[in-house]
Amino acid sequence: MTKILIVEDEPGIYTFLQEGLADEGYETLVATDGYDALHDFAECHPDLVLLDWMLPTMDGIEVCRRIRETDEVTPVLFLTAKDGVEDTIKGLRTGANDYIKKPFSFEELVERIKIHFRNRQHDDILRLGEIVVNLTTHQVQAHDKEVQLTGREFDLLTYFIRHKDRVCSRDDIIKDVWGIDFQYDTGVIDVFMNALRKKLGMKSNGYIKTIRGVGFIATDR
Ligand code: CA
Repeated sequence: MTKILIVEDEPGIYTFLQEGLADEGYETLVATDGYDALHDFAECHPDLVLLDWMLPTMDGIEVCRRIRETDEVTPVLFLTAKDGVEDTIKGLRTGANDYIKKPFSFEELVERIKIHFRNRQHDDILRLGEIVVNLTTHQVQAHDKEVQLTGREFDLLTYFIRHKDRVCSRDDIIKDVWGIDFQYDTGVIDVFMNALRKKLGMKSNGYIKTIRGVGFIATDR
């Protein structure tokens, strides 16, 4: 279930949001000050944050700034009575994704929330030819069939897709996928590549091609 963290100190507003969002099928949790918000964000991993600006102990700007220190992707929407253009800009510059002024229309708020989830779903899918990777569920499909990969195989595949059409050297793969930053026998890559290609039904001239003596290159054809 999609989880929304509501950061708001006015009981009238958070109760209204909780009830309305529950009717829309969202799970909600409420934090009434900035410290609780950061705690709940770290503990509960919400999918989206609705953030009031004027809060006791720590304001919304600071909450947003601290969230962005560790997380650059979870959408943060300011929901605030501050309505000056300068405030909007300040809010967005802190790393918020949207800025909604109070009083707001609940219908509009729901539509804006949906836009952020639509955008995110898009970012969560990686493709390489007939291979589709869902970064959220870790599901991998090759030619419309589901494939079970180990954690390392999954990391290796997503690494190639993110570096599509560029040559990936063996040293870079060991450094970036295995996290090993010194001279190392890169033969381990071949073991994983054989397993990965077999599971994906791919030959050495498939979507991930071997470049002898150098490394690999991923292409859609
Ligand atoms: Ca407030």
